[in-house]
Amino acid sequence: MQQIIDKIKQAEAIVITSHRSPDGDSIGSSLGLYQFIQKLNKSVTVCHPDKAPEFLLWLDDIENIHTFEENPDTVKQLIEKADLIFSLDYNVLSRVGEEMQQLLEQASAEFILIDHHLNPGDFASISLSKPETCSTSQLIYDVIVQSSEREMMDAKIATPLYLGIMTDTGSFRFPSVEPRTHEILAEMLRLGVQHFRIHQNTFDQNSLDRLRLQGYATSEKLEILFNGKIATIALTEEELNLFNYQKGDTEGLVNVALSIEGVKAAVYFGEKDGKVKISLRGKDDYEVNKLASDHFEGGGHKYAAGGISELSMEDTLKKFQELIPKYFA
Ligand code: 5GP
Ligand code: MN
Repeated sequence: MQQIIDKIKQAEAIVITSHRSPDGDSIGSSLGLYQFIQKLNKSVTVCHPDKAPEFLLWLDDIENIHTFEENPDTVKQLIEKADLIFSLDYNVLSRVGEEMQQLLEQASAEFILIDHHLNPGDFASISLSKPETCSTSQLIYDVIVQSSEREMMDAKIATPLYLGIMTDTGSFRFPSVEPRTHEILAEMLRLGVQHFRIHQNTFDQNSLDRLRLQGYATSEKLEILFNGKIATIALTEEELNLFNYQKGDTEGLVNVALSIEGVKAAVYFGEKDGKVKISLRGKDDYEVNKLASDHFEGGGHKYAAGGISELSMEDTLKKFQELIPKYFA
């Protein structure tokens, strides 16, 4: 952890990257590290593949994140001239999407990986890979407070990190939460982090369209399969457009499906630009990451994984249904 801090101090141009389809942890760990490096008065930018979801736009400095999707030339320049690149919350370079992956592969910078997914690639000169840790944000917190710069930690740095821990632990309830997680949260409150605002800003800002879309999804599109043990929700682009879909509007739907009594795996299928993005959740003996990596170019954690399908929605659903007996008992 001290080596990471030393590298930051030696660097001239630092770029923080994270995975495609950003979530609370990728955004939170990126902005927390960004605030810290800024406080050290070093040159730092955040370059992500694509835009943050609507429900996170309240975060300080989120407007300063450059995205490859919106400004490919800026991102290209920043990555080319960087001498230190952080890879946060992803294990392999392909997680940033093909085009940005190419930029990273051609970069002359040194890489530092900080992540909690299984099977880290070996592209970084320092890898802090902790699959047992609940979130990358928690790792960033510990890197800072276990270094010589621990006095720098403040509410500005801690707020996005709290957000990242909160979202990646389902509000502090997944098995990945450990005593250290709560110790960190307590330290954050002592620093002045306004936890109630973070929860409110993230979860209590539903648009009417979003709420109606979620209602439609659960009342009209929820399917129960495999003797009640598997639940799916599939939304086509056309359906999403009916509710003026904004990025992030379907976040959490898959967990609603998983919450049904007796359901052990839930899958959300969402169509975008002719492809189908897939979110899988499991519990008990229904692990989902292998199915995602074997058949949907994805992966993730045991009980939370994702992937993508280039087939039509209809064919994707058929393919998934055929796989059920192979992966679940
Ligand atoms: P979500 O369903 O929230 O998009 O993703 C849940 C988890 O699945 C993420 O934390 C990530 O670990 C994993 N994941 C999602 N999409 C992909 C993907 O396209 N590829 C891989 N390897 N993992 C993914
Ligand atoms: Mn994460």
